[in-house]
Amino acid sequence: MSWLRKFMIGRYGVDQLSTTLLIVSIIFSILSRFFNSSVLNIFNMILLIAIFYRTLSKNIGRRYRENAKFLGIWNPIASKIRRRINWIKGLKDYRYYKCSGCRQKLRVPRGKGKISITCPKCKVTMIKRS
Ligand SMILES: [Zn+2]
Repeated sequence: MSWLRKFMIGRYGVDQLSTTLLIVSIIFSILSRFFNSSVLNIFNMILLIAIFYRTLSKNIGRRYRENAKFLGIWNPIASKIRRRINWIKGLKDYRYYKCSGCRQKLRVPRGKGKISITCPKCKVTMIKRS
């Protein structure tokens, strides 16, 4: 494997953008098999060429900036998805209310009967079923 290490010296390598492109490429390859679509196949080839080009590129600064741009778009989306997943996981154990005073989201444990909820932000109290 030392020849590969030697070959990769001064080259950019794999980053989050390349990994994401690879995942998209795998999805496209499955879809192109499923739909027997040559358009998807060609698009998949272009993606694979782009992945190889980026990984073997010696223009590290430019590849780094591309990845940073991608992460600037992707990270807020990923964090939104993560928050939504945690919210769905929490539905079993928690109930969510919006504060009648400031619209702050409030989370209370389920199954405690009628409870008094005090908003930690604006101190408005509401009586709700948990
Ligand atoms: Zn409030």
